[in-house]
Amino acid sequence: MAKKQFKAESKRLLDLMIGSIYTHKEIFLREIISNASDAIDKMCYTALTDPSVGMSRGDFSIRITPDKEARTITVSDNGIGMTREELDSNLGVIAKSGSFGFKSGLSDEQKNDNDIDIIGQFGVGFYSAFMVSQKVVVISRAWGSDTGAKWESTGADGYTISDCEKDSVGTDIIMYLKEDTSEENYSKFLESTFLRRLIKKYSDYIRYPIIMPMEKHRPTEEKKLDEKGNQITVHETYYVDETVNSMIPLWNRSKSEASDEDCAAFYKEKFFDSEDPLKVIRVNAEGAVSYRALLFIPSKAPYNYYTKEYEAGLQLYSSGVMIMESCSDLLPECFRFVKGVVDSQDLSLNISREMLQHDRQVRIIANSLEKRIKSELKKMMTDEPEKYDKFFSNFGLQLKYGIVNNFGAKKDLLSDLMVFYSAKEGKPISLADYVSAMPEEQNEIYYACGETVAKTSMLPQTELVRERGFDILFFTDEVDEFVANILENYSGKPFKSVNANDLDLQSDEEKKELEEKVEGSRDLLAFVRDTLNGQVVDVVLSHKLKTAPSCLSARGEITLDMEKYFSAVPNESDRIKADRVLELNGEHKTFAALADAYATDKDKAAKYAQLLYYQALLLADMPVDDPLTLTNLISDLIAD
Ligand code: ADP
Repeated sequence: MAKKQFKAESKRLLDLMIGSIYTHKEIFLREIISNASDAIDKMCYTALTDPSVGMSRGDFSIRITPDKEARTITVSDNGIGMTREELDSNLGVIAKSGSFGFKSGLSDEQKNDNDIDIIGQFGVGFYSAFMVSQKVVVISRAWGSDTGAKWESTGADGYTISDCEKDSVGTDIIMYLKEDTSEENYSKFLESTFLRRLIKKYSDYIRYPIIMPMEKHRPTEEKKLDEKGNQITVHETYYVDETVNSMIPLWNRSKSEASDEDCAAFYKEKFFDSEDPLKVIRVNAEGAVSYRALLFIPSKAPYNYYTKEYEAGLQLYSSGVMIMESCSDLLPECFRFVKGVVDSQDLSLNISREMLQHDRQVRIIANSLEKRIKSELKKMMTDEPEKYDKFFSNFGLQLKYGIVNNFGAKKDLLSDLMVFYSAKEGKPISLADYVSAMPEEQNEIYYACGETVAKTSMLPQTELVRERGFDILFFTDEVDEFVANILENYSGKPFKSVNANDLDLQSDEEKKELEEKVEGSRDLLAFVRDTLNGQVVDVVLSHKLKTAPSCLSARGEITLDMEKYFSAVPNESDRIKADRVLELNGEHKTFAALADAYATDKDKAAKYAQLLYYQALLLADMPVDDPLTLTNLISDLIAD
């Protein structure tokens, strides 16, 4: 029979498995049992929704049979089984299986580094059988077919597939153990007591009975003589089937029965993460709909989180029977990073994906989960601020989009969860903290937009607000200003850009002084505006600037930052332009020089005007469209 080759990705992992010096080889059993349980989940669901199957929940089990003579361990399930084609596609390639998704998240260097520990961190699935086996045979019969198929492989040199007989639907995985070596004792996996310990350790929560013939000994009638000639009773070995696991799913256990560590291990295995979750949330709700949920907030965003590939949703169970792998209707979009399971006895098994959205029970669960997730996050924010910062750096963007989306439908839910970098505190703070620290005379929440904290803190426009002793929130994500626009205010305090033309922070005296100065500079300002010839809609004397010579602001609805944001959006870049205003610092020495030149040398004054505009552009982090003009101007000045 022709040997088929494993796909490249699979072969690499397989090589890792075969040559594994990994100390936790024992995890292979967990992986194989977990596959069996998944296959039973599928069959059980079919049986419960299609009476023609003729099986009920109690008919399903996983059987583990060690055979010391043949040196094999067989794991059998009466799950959904695999057809010949499925054997080929599921076991011939693993790159597509969820377990291997982590690979794409790794750098090339990491990929080439045969870091065996990676194996232990991830659910590596079926292939882990090769850590302990020299040969693996899979005999399977799929639901709906009347014959079986056999897959066989000794590892790296490929696999064969043939037809074979199998009496019942399900799968047998037969693992031929490797020979013992001086470093590794594989024979221990043939001891039922050792296997029982492994099952208890890793697979106790599996919701179907894991049955194993346990080796027992009993005295017989027969006697024999020992070396000293004494009569002793001969014992015989016999086997008794025992259900080894408690079958209580983790989410049905109290905190004392399932520690956070247990839950973290469950999370890592089930949701293919290498890191512990940042937060475990246990829900035990009774009321209109009773349900339990075990939710997890990941420590970091999966590599594909902000892409279409990422599949959001919770696993949905009805009284311990999985009815949906990933039910997105249970989570609002803004919390789509949450992973976990929901189990309710009040859900109909026959519920279809299309019906879910309209299902009353599902809606009730979704609403209460939403509230619970928010309250857990808020608690983290106050009790564990560093943890929250970590959370926010991974998923804050999601929450921000959550505020902006659907015209702010979720803004009340999410505004309390926002944090922004505070200029005063030098770290992210909540809006509530900002507002409570506001001095009495401050009426607005000031923000400044910029690409980074460092760039934003250099914005000349922030000078006045700072001088007044008011804190400024730095908006460094493009979406931030939209968030402020949608929120409008927090705790009744409106958001205000430090760029706004109506900051209204001056005393009457200062206002008067400025007005007089404007009066005296009217011609000069008009001259600068004419020189800039359409590049700005106006030129004004600024009340915001303290040490900088000039800055740029915008008049009207569209701010400079919105313009920046839309410049990257195709078809919008031409449409959405801010009306730019050049603000000059009347107290600055450059202004005096400009006024001087205006009186004596108009050409020079025009150059100065253009340069002051370029300076403002640069400080606002706006593109300079004609750098050559700028460099020529500078050259002229140097040569002057
Ligand atoms: P994963 O379980 O992460 O998808 P595996 O490599 O463990 O990856 O398994 C690959 C696929 O083979 C599974 O997704 C499943 O479709 C199939 N499979 C494995 N074991 C069984 C089994 N006992 N019964 C039915 N299908 C199975």
